[in-house]
Amino acid sequence: MSKSKTPKKAKAAAKWVYTFGDGAAEGHAELRELLGGKGANLAEMSKLGLPVPPGFTITTDVCAAYFANGNALPDALRPQIEEALVRVGAMTGAAFGDEASPLLVSVRSGGRASMPGMMDTVLNLGLNDATCEGLARRSGDARFAFDSYRRFIQMYGDVVLGVDHHLFEDVLDNFKNLNGHGSDTELTPEDWREVVEDFKELVETELGEPFPQDIYAQLWGAVGAVFSSWNTARAITYRRLHDIPDDWGTAVNIQAMVFGNMGETSATGVAFTRNPSTGEKAIFGEFLVNAQGEDVVAGIRTPQSLSERARLEMGDKAASLEALMPVLFTELTDVCDRLEARFSDMQDVEFTIQEGKLWMLQTRNGKRTISAALKIATDMVGEGLISQSEAVMCVEPQEIDKLLHPTLDPDAERHVIATGLPASPGAATGEIVFDADEAEALAAQGRKVILARTETSPEDIHGMHAAQGILTTRGGMTSHAAVVARGMGRPCVSGAGRARIDQEAQTLNVDGLVIAKGEVVTLDGTSGEVLKGEVALRQPELSGDFVTLMGWADELRRLGVRANAETPHDVAQARDFGAEGIGLCRTEHMFFEPERISAVREMILAADEDGRRTALDKILPMQRGDFVKIFEIMGELPVTIRLLDPPLHEFLPNEGEDVADAALALGVEEKALKQRIAQLKEFNPMLGHRGCRLAISYPEITDMQARAIFEAACEVTQSSGRAVKPEIMVPLVLARNELDFIKARIDAVAEAVGRERDVTIDYQVGTMIELPRACLRAGEIAKTAQFFSFGTNDLTQTTMGLSRDDSGPIMSDYLARGILEADPFAQLDEAGVGELVAIGAARGREARENLKIGICGEHGGDPQSIDFFERAGLDYVSCSPFRVPIARLAAAQAALRARAGKGTK
Ligand code: PEP
Ligand code: MG
Repeated sequence: MSKSKTPKKAKAAAKWVYTFGDGAAEGHAELRELLGGKGANLAEMSKLGLPVPPGFTITTDVCAAYFANGNALPDALRPQIEEALVRVGAMTGAAFGDEASPLLVSVRSGGRASMPGMMDTVLNLGLNDATCEGLARRSGDARFAFDSYRRFIQMYGDVVLGVDHHLFEDVLDNFKNLNGHGSDTELTPEDWREVVEDFKELVETELGEPFPQDIYAQLWGAVGAVFSSWNTARAITYRRLHDIPDDWGTAVNIQAMVFGNMGETSATGVAFTRNPSTGEKAIFGEFLVNAQGEDVVAGIRTPQSLSERARLEMGDKAASLEALMPVLFTELTDVCDRLEARFSDMQDVEFTIQEGKLWMLQTRNGKRTISAALKIATDMVGEGLISQSEAVMCVEPQEIDKLLHPTLDPDAERHVIATGLPASPGAATGEIVFDADEAEALAAQGRKVILARTETSPEDIHGMHAAQGILTTRGGMTSHAAVVARGMGRPCVSGAGRARIDQEAQTLNVDGLVIAKGEVVTLDGTSGEVLKGEVALRQPELSGDFVTLMGWADELRRLGVRANAETPHDVAQARDFGAEGIGLCRTEHMFFEPERISAVREMILAADEDGRRTALDKILPMQRGDFVKIFEIMGELPVTIRLLDPPLHEFLPNEGEDVADAALALGVEEKALKQRIAQLKEFNPMLGHRGCRLAISYPEITDMQARAIFEAACEVTQSSGRAVKPEIMVPLVLARNELDFIKARIDAVAEAVGRERDVTIDYQVGTMIELPRACLRAGEIAKTAQFFSFGTNDLTQTTMGLSRDDSGPIMSDYLARGILEADPFAQLDEAGVGELVAIGAARGREARENLKIGICGEHGGDPQSIDFFERAGLDYVSCSPFRVPIARLAAAQAALRARAGKGTK
């Protein structure tokens, strides 16, 4: 073939297939990029000597080659697969295609990051008319053989050949109706043989050609289909939601089949090595006797608990695995312990029991709630499984957010209408809807919705993401809804069995009660209850595990963490969350209350200095009072107060009623006010008369603010006996001269107030660095500035030429087309804005060796950006109070990565 001359041929010599089984493996856990998570861990389990059905992994490199080849498998792959199949056959005493003892395999996806249920799987591959007869003879169980064959035709037909699985189900249902069978178990071997013929006929009718009997053709088809499933719409959506790059690709795992459906001594199940909701150290999961893997998640039969204790807690009648197969239960718990010891983390495993023998099919780090994550991390340190640093790395900083959100007020009245499983904790209230698209559409309008489904599937993810909470009427604790909701941090009640959804009528019906679409319901994902109407919520309290882990994080981090806050309430909240100072007190935000905004408007609208001074006299005591409270709350911790930076359009009344009201409040003619507003109108207010430019034009504003700060500092110093050390920050500076001018005014006020009050105030004057010119001129500016704080909101706006206020619609196109990887106003643009930050910091420190440098833009609470600020050598980050704990943890992780010489990507 001509493509053999292309560079791809050079890759053909590469190793594309890695085998495992029989206590050995060619791969290992660290080869995750190449083998995918599942393949790398199967190799590792095999090396640990755990019972893993033998198999091999086709690497993610092949996935890339497959797509580059126009969705065709490279020729050089085939001999490697054939060789591996021979080895697997030898380990199992069977051979692929052998009519006497046929080897059957599973073909599964397995990317670098887990994408549960998003890609395709084919089971029982290797069956055709001849090998099926062989399997029947060898197993002595024709029912099992033909049942496996019909499952294979259905799965292969659906996944590889594109014949809708509903058509197969219809054929089976028709067959059962015609023959008077109620359930699958009533079908005889001969019945299944007939169903197989019907299925083959269906495929031939649909495709115009017979179902493939060539097992190698089946195999190539299945491998290609699994690679192709990387690019299904649902997989793409999942990657977008979870920040998984499109070019990672998936590996394919081919493994000897083991059967959980070979009678009463066979079973299949899933287990977490610890409870994924609470973190409790006890094996937790579900299983089904005489079933294949799909049956556990499909929700057709109700799975049973693994442990006796869980069974009692759930009130299950069906026996636990512990009671039913005690030896295997002990073996499984043993395997779980060994896996935890090897992977130093809680594992989520899949297992099958075939005629009394345990087989491990998969292990991966288990998804868990944030409270479970904290408990597991701290417990594992106690058990000596991991170090404190490892524990700190185990918890995703963004997840902390979920701890800080409300739960149901236990004292509130509850009208429970249904109960299900407590699948994902937390509480949510909203209008009930029964369709994912509708959930998304209503949420986009700002409405709060609860998505109710019989059971969810990957097609529902966008709706689950948009919803406040998720309710299903079917499915267990490891159902799709439960796993995905936990991952997203959405409260979820699953398997509310007495509730029924009527899709046509768009209602939820429980014991005669009808809840129609749009009615408000509340979910308690912690108790599993569904409540009618809205129920009061309560703010969460942080657990002992949280405090312990954050304590370790605080010891490990180098970056300081401050808060952006200006009201006494927010300042106190920030301190509670562990802020080590206020990094940004936006003084203009102290005037949002109605009676205050009027005074600020009077100041802005004043026609001359006298008018302004009159307004400023009204503002002074308000400012002083607030500063006193803030200094009192923060004690000796630093407080950075920024001088007024009001973008004028945010403070002036708009047209119509607002103007009339403002005129009334200010005691001026409406017409005169309109004229003044017109005079002040700017085309680009964010680049207009704001920041220090206002102080240059009207220095009396600075005088008033400096006086309020120093008088408050004197008052608190005198009353508390503690020296208050304010840091005064000048915004939007572009040249040292601006700062010199303003600093001279501040110094003069400091001296005057000090003399009047007979107190010496220790203060600093610094600047925000939020313009590219300020970064470039940082060396000069630092000769006057005693500290820098990067205002990365404005710095992003001015570096990228993108308006902070108007970039939303642009950004959605840029992100959808992959032109930008992330919204630069949420995650720092390291390549551009980051370089300016680095230049500014370096030039500033060159001029002033001990220059303290912080960042107070929104990026101060974003873990990825914090990693950059650590590498850039900044001294602290400052963010909104609720993000302080996230920043503390992210800063610790950034420090650990920096010490290990690794970045986040
Ligand atoms: C900034 O620009 O990053 C900043 C913190 O200031 P503001 O958001 O108030 O403009
Ligand atoms: Mg700014």
